[in-house]
Amino acid sequence: MLPSAAVALNILFASETEDPGAWLPRLQSALPKDRFFTSPRDDIDVALVATPPAGTFRQLKRLKLVQSLWMGVERLLADPEFPRGVPLARLVDPGMVAAMSESVLAHVLDWHRHHYYYRSQQKERRWHRLKQFLASDRTIGLLGLGELGSDAARRIGALGFNLVGWSRRPKALPGVECLTDLDAVLEKSDVVVCLLPLTAQTRGILNARTLRKIRLGGAVINVARGGHLVPDDLIATLDDGRLAHAYLDVFEHEPLSHEHPLWTHPGITITPHSAALTEPRTAMPGIVENVERLRRGEPPLNRVDLDAGY
Ligand code: NAP
Repeated sequence: MLPSAAVALNILFASETEDPGAWLPRLQSALPKDRFFTSPRDDIDVALVATPPAGTFRQLKRLKLVQSLWMGVERLLADPEFPRGVPLARLVDPGMVAAMSESVLAHVLDWHRHHYYYRSQQKERRWHRLKQFLASDRTIGLLGLGELGSDAARRIGALGFNLVGWSRRPKALPGVECLTDLDAVLEKSDVVVCLLPLTAQTRGILNARTLRKIRLGGAVINVARGGHLVPDDLIATLDDGRLAHAYLDVFEHEPLSHEHPLWTHPGITITPHSAALTEPRTAMPGIVENVERLRRGEPPLNRVDLDAGY
């Protein structure tokens, strides 16, 4: 039975990565009627989760809503104990969306203005200027035109770059040539930005075949999930000069192991899964809205389609 409007809810906060000290005081003041817990119990109504400890879901017998504290939900869906009959809402956090667009822009501009090249020649005290291009000479390809891809498109487009984008279903976005043919997107792109969810269909999508379709001397920016990229294929594509540079924020196993060849490759810039962090200050209204929706018996916003995997 769905809770009535007056009912206090039992809310679990379970995360091995998010700091409860940054969340719980804000949650308690925004949802003063409700009770908060940090260990599972059988009377929990709502689970707020990001990388929950193993076995968290086993004890949650009357769960009515799972609210992710991350935008990507593939790890939750891979948990064999995840309760597939309970609605799962993913986080859509405007602060995180802005952070991602800033990270993508920083990488696009680093490549466009040759800063990756000038950083490496500085090490050798070498003075060599590369040809200048206008933003309008370049095309940026966005794989994924969802919350993150569409905001990045808007901000990159504002600087005058051409934009092409790929989504599963046909889409219309101002200033973006939206396509559902991946090869057509890659062939038009100088820089490819991966902002896809990790699903069975998108795993390994940045591979020897697809990376070689990006325009000569271009770059790839993977800020989605490590599983999208085949690292050995990237290294080969950089080594044979097809691509000039790669920007990697995410890895199959994090932290990236100390010995991994990606660390030392001169054509790769690495950031530690920091492209966009959940920002409790800006994430809170969406989470509170979903708790209040549950209280009113309404479905949550940003519900994950379990069949599509995102
Ligand atoms: P979203 O709103 O769900 O958008 C996903 C986009 O990918 C949609 O345009 C979707 O197409 C498209 N897509 C999905 N499967 C596809 C397929 N098989 N073929 C073609 N297009 C496909 O997701 P989001 O909020 O933008 O987030 C994207 C991902 O970014 C997350 O899943 C997460 O893994 C990652 N992320 C990374 C960080 C970081 O710090 N590095 C931070 C936040 C998120 P439709 O429009 O047709 O549905």
